Amino acid sequence: MSSHLDARAPLVVDTHELTRSPGSVRALTRTVPAPADLHVELIGVPEGADVCLDLTLEAVVEGVLVTGTIDAPLEGECARCLDPVHENGHFTITELYNYPGRDAGDDEFFLDGELLDLEPVLRAAVVLDMPFTPLCRPDCAGLCPVCGARLNDEPEHVHAEPADPRWSRLGELGVEEDSGQPGDDPV
Ligand SMILES: [Zn+2]
Ligand SMILES: [Zn+2]
Repeated sequence: MSSHLDARAPLVVDTHELTRSPGSVRALTRTVPAPADLHVELIGVPEGADVCLDLTLEAVVEGVLVTGTIDAPLEGECARCLDPVHENGHFTITELYNYPGRDAGDDEFFLDGELLDLEPVLRAAVVLDMPFTPLCRPDCAGLCPVCGARLNDEPEHVHAEPADPRWSRLGELGVEEDSGQPGDDPV
């Protein structure tokens, strides 16, 4: 396999200084722009946002062991009330990059010459650890299932009377709010 990684790419690391001597260690602190599509359904890292890598590269017999932490801003929406959610994501990685030509499994990572590509490892660590149910606050009360009121704003909210008949009628008829379709209005 010939070398095809670009040593100048933000998530490509040159391990030359480790000189394949087991035990040699190098710290890697780097801020990189988030690659695209770093998200799950309701939350993700905005493309281009600052992703802070604080890693240690250690030469081991099999290759280079990469350990450390990744910090990245997360933007999404609350799974209960749909309010915007902003969080600081904190992720850890531990990954072995095998030396080229080693007999390792297909799902293992390999060095490309002296270069290694952090992107797939970053992607796996972040996507797997992203909150599956992001919440605007841990005790978010969500929306009233009857009328859609925001229960965070109205903790005492109850329906003593049947819900506003306009709502139930809309529900029965399946009528949606007039969305002002273009073409309906005479010019
Ligand atoms: Zn919420
Ligand atoms: Zn209600």
